[in-house]
Amino acid sequence: MQCPCHPQHLFADCCAPYLEQGVEPPTPLALMRARYSAFVLGHGAFLLHTWHPATRGELTVAELTQSSKNTQWLGLTILFAQGHADDLQGTVEFKVRYKEHTKVHLLHERSHFERVAGFWKYHSGQHNPPKIKINALCPCLSGKKYKLCCAKRFT
Ligand SMILES: [Zn+2]
Ligand SMILES: [Zn+2]
Repeated sequence: MQCPCHPQHLFADCCAPYLEQGVEPPTPLALMRARYSAFVLGHGAFLLHTWHPATRGELTVAELTQSSKNTQWLGLTILFAQGHADDLQGTVEFKVRYKEHTKVHLLHERSHFERVAGFWKYHSGQHNPPKIKINALCPCLSGKKYKLCCAKRFT
């Protein structure tokens, strides 16, 4: 089976260990991909587990499972990813296309992740962040230009 998060990844080698075997995603990028796959596959428990306790409010597994199933997810594109396994915070910017009823929507978000007791959690996101300039320094803080860094890495 193809992984929902990437057309060229096998589910078994990509998000399955996080969603089905209790492996913790090591980086914000791995968590972002796994959360997208969890939305596609209706894994409400994983979505709740990886939501920062400070921002998840009263959400329940049942609500998250239901809302993910009411949506048809059409694809994930990563724009940049920042944050390594030993960091405490990280950021991933992405675009997701999805369909509700008959209408296609685009979600463009810069998501913030934090480590809580060693585990990465989704904290919050900024919708429609400023466009990343292709010749500017990459927002992943590599020190390279965006076009030579994440723009290349995620195409
Ligand atoms: Zn995946
Ligand atoms: Zn980069």
